[in-house]
Amino acid sequence: MSSTQPAEPTSTAGQTSTADPGSIRAVIERSSLPHGLPDFAAISDDAFRPAFTQAIAEHLAEVDQIAADPEPPTFANTVEALELSGQKLARAGRIFSNLAISDANPQRDAIARDLAVALAEHTDTINLDPRLFSRIHSLYERRDELGLTGTQLRLLDKQHRDAIRAGAGLDASAQEEMRTISARLAWLATKFPQNVLAEAYAAGVLITDEAELDGLSATAVAAARQAAVEAGHDQGWLIAMELPSSQSAVAELTDPAVRRRVFEASVTRCLHGEHDNRALITEIIALRARRAELLGYADAAAYEIAEQTAPSPAAVDELLTRLGAAAVRAGERELQQVQDYADSVSPGTVIGASDYTYWLERQRGSVTGVDLDRFEEYCELERVLTHGIFFAAGQLYGLQFVERDDLVGYHPDVRIWEVFDAAGDSIALFLGDFHARSSKRGGAWMSTFVDQSSVLAETPVVVNVLNLSKPEPGQPSLLSVDNLITLFHEFGHSVHGLLSSVKYPSQSGASVPPDFVEFPSQVNEMWAFHPEVLANYAVHHRTGEPIPPELARAAREAVEVESAHSTIEYLAAAVLDLAWHRLGTEEIAAVEDVEAFEAAALAAAGLAHPLIPPRYRSTYFNHIFGGQYAASYYSYIWSEVLAAETEQWFLANGGLQAGSGRRFVESTLSRGDSVDPLAAHQRLIGRKPELGPLLRKRGLEPVA
Ligand SMILES: [Zn+2]
Repeated sequence: MSSTQPAEPTSTAGQTSTADPGSIRAVIERSSLPHGLPDFAAISDDAFRPAFTQAIAEHLAEVDQIAADPEPPTFANTVEALELSGQKLARAGRIFSNLAISDANPQRDAIARDLAVALAEHTDTINLDPRLFSRIHSLYERRDELGLTGTQLRLLDKQHRDAIRAGAGLDASAQEEMRTISARLAWLATKFPQNVLAEAYAAGVLITDEAELDGLSATAVAAARQAAVEAGHDQGWLIAMELPSSQSAVAELTDPAVRRRVFEASVTRCLHGEHDNRALITEIIALRARRAELLGYADAAAYEIAEQTAPSPAAVDELLTRLGAAAVRAGERELQQVQDYADSVSPGTVIGASDYTYWLERQRGSVTGVDLDRFEEYCELERVLTHGIFFAAGQLYGLQFVERDDLVGYHPDVRIWEVFDAAGDSIALFLGDFHARSSKRGGAWMSTFVDQSSVLAETPVVVNVLNLSKPEPGQPSLLSVDNLITLFHEFGHSVHGLLSSVKYPSQSGASVPPDFVEFPSQVNEMWAFHPEVLANYAVHHRTGEPIPPELARAAREAVEVESAHSTIEYLAAAVLDLAWHRLGTEEIAAVEDVEAFEAAALAAAGLAHPLIPPRYRSTYFNHIFGGQYAASYYSYIWSEVLAAETEQWFLANGGLQAGSGRRFVESTLSRGDSVDPLAAHQRLIGRKPELGPLLRKRGLEPVA
């Protein structure tokens, strides 16, 4: 998953509260802890509403002063002043939005929905202030005469776009409609993932006959036992739902009937009962379509992609179509191989949708002659962190990580490291919240508690959140190949935040367009199986013996050669996302059945595979209905083109060493959104990116 910063929520005004003033201060004031780490121990949930009320009021007063300034507008008194306003609100927003998704409870859920609406209204109030807009607009009109740096021009341009996109150029009645739309969308985007989280356990499959667990790893069995306890079952094992359609248990369980139960539970999530998301989907899509229409965009996809590095929806379509055709061809070959293998084991095997990944893993294992389940024995979390992830960051960027047991996180599971640069200076904090719990949203992500900014003298506080199965007390946390890659991926987002070196907070670290944000994280995946890194961490967790070369090779191949299954399920989700966001207001009004629309959209793209559902079906597609990937789920493959090119660049330029690391940091990684990200990437590799390296990595043949 991405570094999606959840929408920063805010407060409903006028709430009275008995919250302790110290607790409110801990939400909105910069703490005196290292790098401004929030003083979590001092924060109670009762403080959030009054804290937001105060922070919003103070922000409005600051903005009013800028808008009412009798002096003519300048970059400093308008653009920069606006950029630096609202620090209390920003701080409160980051703290609350992290807690609301990493450690939810009913009180936080309710606050999140109210605050999402209040913050949307607050943002509109600023964007639609005619006095402020007129100042920004007059600067924008004269932008080439103001002697601004490139970074300042980008900031001015962004503020101008934000106002226009909120409706600043529209008449009063259209502006009123825009306000109503944003407030409602903010509520819906908060409610949608809350339903998905509730279904993770509510739709989980309870197993009471131990024999039915056959095939699951010891780690998975322990996690299922733990999930049953958390869900309040006296006995049995609960296979809780992971976020995507594909469930890791489905690839492991030997009993086809149990696989089918888990698979069906997964792909029917939020399609019925109290967590049904279908009405939310059609409402969200209708509102987004209407907003695009009011602003003069062809559709919601055009509105969203205007803020991306991709030039247009047509360019995205072209990439998805080329890849889709190649993936379908590769899929036919792959399915034949899987079927042949299944027949060789058990003649006449009928492979259904719930059997594909099970047989795929076994077929792949038969080719390498290696059982990849053994990999986790050599992949213990603690060692991967210190001798893998931190080691690679040390070699490349000179970073050192020292755990600070004296600092307190927002949950007992959270660990905190202080980060030092090559000169030995303390530059940041890194928080790790690695294990699953029922209060945590599914998936994995990076987020921030403090964004780097030189003008504010802020240094970063960054968090990685994952959903690794929690081991029994005293037992090691062992990582599957997939989890290993996720850890490296999310840490790549963290490095983007930790090494940020920009002036303005809104341009910091991972605050880049979504179709570029996955780039640093995908690049960082390359170090997981780099020979020097692997040799450094992959030893048996009990015996300390190095990983057998054939096991390392097979694991590396499993990662480097993507299955057609995974490419097809990804592309299907990306196509589905675009299809929803290309509907006009009349077309969406005519959609009666979410599932029928989904099927038709996939069929139209040639990706309606009978055995491979999209990576996310609409009703649990958090990225696009509850996150920041509306019409942008294509971002992962878009930035993968850049990442595949960069991987080659690294290997051609010294690999794992400080020289190449420094060039990467200076050109792109430290720049955030202060420069044009695509231009920065081209300067690094010396030309425009091409599709070849990605196609090779995904095992696809070029398609004309
Ligand atoms: Zn990501």
